[in-house]
Amino acid sequence: MTVALIVAAGSGERLGAGQPKALVELAGRPLLQWSIDALLEVSGIERVIVALPAGVALPCGADGCADADAGERVFAVEGGATRSQSVRLALDAAGASPAQAHARREGESDLVLVHDAARPLVSAALAETVIAALAHEPEADAAIAAVPVTDTIKRVDTAGAVLETLDRSELWAVQTPQVFRRLALERALDVPVQELARATDDAGLLERSGSRVIVVRASEENLKVTTPLDLRVAELLLAGRSRSPGEQRNDLPNPA
Ligand code: C5P
Repeated sequence: MTVALIVAAGSGERLGAGQPKALVELAGRPLLQWSIDALLEVSGIERVIVALPAGVALPCGADGCADADAGERVFAVEGGATRSQSVRLALDAAGASPAQAHARREGESDLVLVHDAARPLVSAALAETVIAALAHEPEADAAIAAVPVTDTIKRVDTAGAVLETLDRSELWAVQTPQVFRRLALERALDVPVQELARATDDAGLLERSGSRVIVVRASEENLKVTTPLDLRVAELLLAGRSRSPGEQRNDLPNPA
């Protein structure tokens, strides 16, 4: 059983849209709707829990309202002050604990897929590839979408002086979806809020406790919408796709 958490409770200030980023219109649908539709397509995902800003309801897209149309499968919860707190609140709302699930279906382990609503170009195929990668790697606690870095990356101090040039051959830019064994994610999120506030992704919280996290080669198309320029690029890419979620499945390279 896999549950998907979409974190969409950010303010989206850098987008300057005057409304939460999740609701900004993108190629004819609210930005959040693209991720909901893609994840509802994924075989094995039973439920989608969306963390939203206080007072914001699930949007209605081209295919209707997510909560009404998707029936029991999509729920909203109020997000937290930081991204990881939103993940924790969504996970708390996700129902059965691993122990209960285990008792229900012995031998099956629960997986949790975490996705940022800020990546509306996610495809069902990518989510399925990341889920499959973790399912095939029993030693790992998480599998995460990522792409090898193409720029040269330098560490720079606050005065603007270069400290070092990193070895690019080892660097990957990390995206979502990130898929976790539920118990490992619950443990990783069970830390003080100050520690959660410093985390820019959930896999980072697992890495600290020595968990094995594997990367899955994703697509550069799965970009993060942060600025108005990103929104324009996303609009162009989505315009090139069919409006039908069933026709959005891109062919992806094999997992790394
Ligand atoms: O800006 P940032 O990289 O933290 O945002 C990544 C994702 O986390 C976005 O989809 C945003 O809506 C979500 N987020 C959240 N709750 C917060 C802050 C960000 O759900 N308090």
